[in-house]
Amino acid sequence: MRVRRKFAGNKLVVASHNPGKVREIRALLEEYGVEPVSAADLGLPEPIEDGDTFIANAEIKALAAARASNLVSLSDDSGFAVAALDGAPGIYSARWAGPEKDFSVAMQAVEDKLAGKRAMGDDRRAACFICALTLAWPDGHVESFEGRVEGNVVWPPRGDKGFGYDPIFVLDGYEQTFAEMDPASKHVISHRADAFRQLINACFTSR
Ligand code: IMP
Repeated sequence: MRVRRKFAGNKLVVASHNPGKVREIRALLEEYGVEPVSAADLGLPEPIEDGDTFIANAEIKALAAARASNLVSLSDDSGFAVAALDGAPGIYSARWAGPEKDFSVAMQAVEDKLAGKRAMGDDRRAACFICALTLAWPDGHVESFEGRVEGNVVWPPRGDKGFGYDPIFVLDGYEQTFAEMDPASKHVISHRADAFRQLINACFTSR
């Protein structure tokens, strides 16, 4: 197995302008004594995400922030993938919400496309959340990890916590949507938590 580079500092840039993600990452990093600053706080520009996988896009964002700030940077590229829609919206999850970032529009589009495919029964509504995390150093070194959780699309949307597609996703073995769960519960079981566990095991030493 390849030796991973360790993160030994206490300050890193979260390479995201998405407040929902920054909030979750901040909560996940708290116990490691790491002080995250966001790319938005530092006024870093948002790079064009033109990779064709979650990991490729996470690496583009983390490298851009690491090089611009001269700090180690952590990025998250994530999304919602519906099996009956051939994995859409996938890497285009944010774009489906349009320039207004209106996720009620994006969720409605998922439901309309599933209805168009007559995918109404539970067996046709499988979906997953995927999260790629990349830790990048200013010298261009990267360490990347991918986490995922499997479940189903429900309709209508339920709950007002969380963000993005949370109101229409129920994790296998649960009844509440991610948006009905209290955030602390979601943080422990989410795709981001899965990717985080891999990242922490590989690149962080306990303090
Ligand atoms: P990104 O900023 O390009 O990675 O966009 C990811 C998009 O995927 C977000 O804007 C959300 O719509 C969706 N997404 C990612 N993670 C979650 C989550 O935990 N809950 C709900 N939606 C998510």
